[in-house]
Amino acid sequence: MYPEQLRYMQEVKRALDAKGHGLLEMPTGTGKTITMLSVVTSYQLAHPEVGKFIYCTRTVPEMEKVLAELKNLVKYREKHGIRVPVLALGLSSRKNMCIHKDVVDEGSRDSVDAKCRKLTASWVRDRAVDDQEIELCSFYEQHEKAGPEAMLPPGVYTLQDLRNFGREKGWCPYFLARHMMEFANVIVYNYQYMLDPKVSNLVSRAMERECIVAFDEAHNIDNVCIEALSVNLREQTLNNATRNVGRLNRVIAQAKATDADRLRKEYNRLVQGLVDRGALPAARTGGEDWLQNPALPTDILQEAVPGNIRRAEHFVSFLRRFIDFLKQRMDTRQVESEAPATFLQKLKDQTGIDAKSLQFCYSRLNSLMRTLEIVDTDDLMGVQLVADFATLIGTYDTGFAIIIEPFDERLPSIPDPVIQLSCLDASLAIRPVFEKFQSVIITSGTLSPIDMFPKILNFHPVVIQSLPMTLARNCICPVILAKGNDQTQVSSRFDSRHDVNVVRNYGKMLVEMAKTIPDGMVCFFVSYMYMDQVVSKWNEMGILNELMEHKLIFIETQDVVETTLALDNFRRACDCGRGALFFSVARGKVSEGIDFDKHYGRAVVMFGIPFQYTLSRILRARLEYLRETFEIPEKDFLSFDAIRQAAQCVGRVIRSKSDYGMMVFADCRYTRVDKRDKLPGWITTRMKDSHLSLSVDMLLQVAREFMREMSQPIDEEANNRMLFTEAEANAVAAQS
Ligand code: SF4
Repeated sequence: MYPEQLRYMQEVKRALDAKGHGLLEMPTGTGKTITMLSVVTSYQLAHPEVGKFIYCTRTVPEMEKVLAELKNLVKYREKHGIRVPVLALGLSSRKNMCIHKDVVDEGSRDSVDAKCRKLTASWVRDRAVDDQEIELCSFYEQHEKAGPEAMLPPGVYTLQDLRNFGREKGWCPYFLARHMMEFANVIVYNYQYMLDPKVSNLVSRAMERECIVAFDEAHNIDNVCIEALSVNLREQTLNNATRNVGRLNRVIAQAKATDADRLRKEYNRLVQGLVDRGALPAARTGGEDWLQNPALPTDILQEAVPGNIRRAEHFVSFLRRFIDFLKQRMDTRQVESEAPATFLQKLKDQTGIDAKSLQFCYSRLNSLMRTLEIVDTDDLMGVQLVADFATLIGTYDTGFAIIIEPFDERLPSIPDPVIQLSCLDASLAIRPVFEKFQSVIITSGTLSPIDMFPKILNFHPVVIQSLPMTLARNCICPVILAKGNDQTQVSSRFDSRHDVNVVRNYGKMLVEMAKTIPDGMVCFFVSYMYMDQVVSKWNEMGILNELMEHKLIFIETQDVVETTLALDNFRRACDCGRGALFFSVARGKVSEGIDFDKHYGRAVVMFGIPFQYTLSRILRARLEYLRETFEIPEKDFLSFDAIRQAAQCVGRVIRSKSDYGMMVFADCRYTRVDKRDKLPGWITTRMKDSHLSLSVDMLLQVAREFMREMSQPIDEEANNRMLFTEAEANAVAAQS
């Protein structure tokens, strides 16, 4: 065990003992995941009163990695005679878990959900009893038939393991995992399952307070919270919503003609306020579970649904009026920005619709779709988005802004109207999590400056720590490139963006670095637009050709498939010794989830400081809100946000202690203390004073020395000396 791992365990334990929340930064490559799993699962063993461990990850590959590490941990414990049955499983959407070959090929997540509902909804199953022609999902039926016997034996199950188990038994892995959550000790799932009320109310509502929750790689958790409560409505969405309303009207007319009793029963239930259970009571169970209300506090669910939207046809005409109002608001030539209260007042004046009725919109629509036995919900996405928007704006009067834009501000000649309901307060989505669970641990390799998170998430951690990294050799080499050899300062600052000297100096530096650094190198630009501009200038200057003499070049685009292919080829070029450069952007998919470990990333160059686009109206509204509500100055937040993205990008090249890589911060503004001191301590402590303001020649000198030093054989003994033996770990733990 490394010293920082012991510290990390102690800090997590401190938070758990105090039944409070924690905020912990520990560099990547220090074994953060296994440390977290070890300490929390041991705590569960020592304190049986503690509930489940819910580990939240951002992506499916991360989820699979966590479960693979847990498997190793369980094996290790068994080898040392600790045989405690553990049930751990991953949970993801049907798209990632389904094993029905016709359904899983549907493509998008919404289509897979809808196709599954068509085969498993309670009313479909009821009809299939008398009609053999109706198709059902055999995996769902087998799982239902097995009843309480349908159990997973103890073990650690990745999504792949669950799919294999499902195929073997003939059971649906998705519904099996949902069922087994009740019995599991460890559950690994996506952030959304905890932070998005539409999903968390469905999946995580039954979890007990004693559960321990961890958010891993949480450096952008505030953005996830904000996205969970924001809705964008485009012209196309509103047109679809109008068509959806027409369809609902037709289905209601049909239902009235053939089975009016169904609608009457629904009406009666809505009077009693059972809004979320407004569906027909199913004689049998079914797999039609739908997303839940995006915002309503539970006490409102007990209230009667307002009279004006209780009858199905009244509700549909209510929706039509609301959509017409939105279309009319969208028909503007100038940008409009207003608070929800102003928007609601205008709505009330023009249409008579009030906030109270809007609050119930999402649940009322769900209830109607169930009553009408509609299963192809993917066709009704338009009206569902409008209902989501309605419920959110009807519920929250602060922490949101409405921004109506007739075109993208960067492309003003192309009409592309949008109404954005933008959440400005990240604490709204995460507050229920902090309130519900006694210990929530937020962790990442890059949380600096760490004291910003309690402010923007509005919580009080009992533990807040940024831990260092012990290294047997100086395997990371962070440097700041401030100027070219011609003494021109380099920067991505707006006024230097078109300065050819800056672009040339960046290019020259990269050519020289490509000659010096072996294998793979990664470059991050501040935006796609900036990358396009720089790369086309390099092309004109002949710099790209020069680069290609030394390494192949691959570029990240906004197309995921293209980028995946580029990454594959980049790896192949590194594997075969040709060497390659990968051009990428901060805040892009690559900067968040792709590792460039070992020979795939011997150096990373961050061209500029990735500030957000400050003229964005949503960002301006958020900055204003942060200033007024949390007293966070604009400048502080913008710097915090830009520097955490830069740290995230450069951290891609170090994934373990035996790895090594150079980190080049190529912008003169990094020399300023107010920027530099926002970088994580594990980077700044390794930044030598002499490396704080380099020119290209000086940088190359440093690069050559660093590569020479790193090419020496690793002193395994020195590495091992850093590890604590069991006795040492016990002694240190006893002292602290
Ligand atoms: S029940 Fe399971 S296996 Fe069947 S379609 Fe739905 S997700 Fe797929």
